[in-house]
Amino acid sequence: MSKTTGIARRRLGAGLVLAAGLLLMAAPGRAAAPDAADTVIWGGPVYTADPAHPRVEAVAVRGGRIAFAGDRVAALAWVGPATRVIDLKGAALFPGFTDSHVHLDGVGARELTLNLEGAASAAEVAARVKAYAVNVRPGEVIYGRGWIETGWPEKRFLQASDIDAAAPDNPVLLQRSDGHAIVANTAALRLAGVTEATPAPFGGAILKDRDGHLTGMLVDNAMSLLRGVRPAETAERRIRALKVGMAVENRYGWTGVHFMSAPWDDVLALETLAARGEAPLRVYAAVDRQDADKLFASGRRSAGDGRIVTRAIKLYADGALGSRGAALFEPYSDEPSTTGLLRLTPEDTRPVLAEAAARGIQVCTHAIGDLANARVLDLYAEALPKAGPDPRWRIEHAQNIRAGDILRFARLGVIASMQPSHAIGDLHFAGARLGQDRLAGAYPWKSLRDAGVLVAGGSDAPVERGDPLIEFYAAVARKDLKGLSGPGWHPEQVLSREEALALFTTAAAHARFADAELGSITVGKRADLTAFSVDLMTAPEAAIPKGRAVLTLVDGQVVWQAP
Ligand SMILES: [Zn+2]
Repeated sequence: MSKTTGIARRRLGAGLVLAAGLLLMAAPGRAAAPDAADTVIWGGPVYTADPAHPRVEAVAVRGGRIAFAGDRVAALAWVGPATRVIDLKGAALFPGFTDSHVHLDGVGARELTLNLEGAASAAEVAARVKAYAVNVRPGEVIYGRGWIETGWPEKRFLQASDIDAAAPDNPVLLQRSDGHAIVANTAALRLAGVTEATPAPFGGAILKDRDGHLTGMLVDNAMSLLRGVRPAETAERRIRALKVGMAVENRYGWTGVHFMSAPWDDVLALETLAARGEAPLRVYAAVDRQDADKLFASGRRSAGDGRIVTRAIKLYADGALGSRGAALFEPYSDEPSTTGLLRLTPEDTRPVLAEAAARGIQVCTHAIGDLANARVLDLYAEALPKAGPDPRWRIEHAQNIRAGDILRFARLGVIASMQPSHAIGDLHFAGARLGQDRLAGAYPWKSLRDAGVLVAGGSDAPVERGDPLIEFYAAVARKDLKGLSGPGWHPEQVLSREEALALFTTAAAHARFADAELGSITVGKRADLTAFSVDLMTAPEAAIPKGRAVLTLVDGQVVWQAP
């Protein structure tokens, strides 16, 4: 039945009469009950990400799977007495959105600790610490995260002296929003035993001012010096953070996430929650490198009917661009004394990659600078011939890539797992860090796609907000949330709406080996579905981030519905 006739019928108001006739024709002599769906959804545009039928009018769900996708009239046949019928009221339905790079523990922790997102100056950070400290016992550690100095009047990183007076009786640790640096107050530095004489560990930096005094900021591997100060992680707190994190994700419209750098204890906790029916989010875990041996020993894992799957490890090749930890071939344009921080050596990494290849474990490596991306491709090129036929190894972020390395991604079949929101935040300072020339290879998602590389999309929350609508907008607009872009933002890297949809649906499913089960609204696949108040395929650019998720289903179960 053509779309035109469907619309014409609705206009005539004769749909029900005609549909009833169709029902009789479709099921002669057959009871309707065995075919009845658990849930039927209609009342708004339905985009399937399935090229066989990209747009339909209705979806029927049965036993947690897609039973039907087609026009509304035919969908009536799936409505039985017990069927739940959901009217989208104009909202747009999509395959479940999946965040291909998120730190689920951090998303939960963000809700449970001091949130510094949006602080407009170092002084405001201090004020928030001071207000928070009122309810904290003396001596107790204050842990906050989310500050970023972009746009601050101080025009510099946060430092200990900014916050020392705000909570003099508490050790204070404030993580930069990128997660790659912590500023500790003087009390915390003292407790950790960090002095001006402390050597920085490999892959880390202890920042000092011109006179050689500590600023309080520790970058990348140097954050480990604060390990003894960080609040102890109890099992109870861990589970609370995961549950809060899953609820936050559902509310944003995510049906699934790829949980990066998952601590092993979190994997076990999620499996337990899933077995109890308390994991409303589909989680694919890439375990933290220090737990890689545990995954090698256990092999690929799946729990809760595939709700929690673990078959990847996460490595770090470098730091982040903002804190000048991204490893570059040439020095930073605004700090010629450094080329950033490489955080892995070939000697340490080769055995890990060999073991992963032998055991069919996927490798996901964080690489931001052009040097880091090149080194990881070198190491992958050595290891991949010994992996199975379809290894799907990934580079996370893939932010700055030399032109020749874009082709190497394609040749090696390496997946680029990218976060569009990083581009629209970082491009405000990336020109200063890299210079205009190098911006040609910055956040090059369109070039990668055109070269035949699979690009999966994510948010890196809690580094970014973790809102799929911000990610989608960033991918198609490549402008900041105020609608601005600047020189060197390379607008030719924007994606079409269809390409952007693929980032969070089909590509996200492929990047976790679930393309047969997830990623599109196709009969037989799992019924993971997301509806947004805004039609992502037709809305004006600026309207996209102003929308919200109104309905989230995982395995056919409603896990979020806007009130
Ligand atoms: Zn990350």
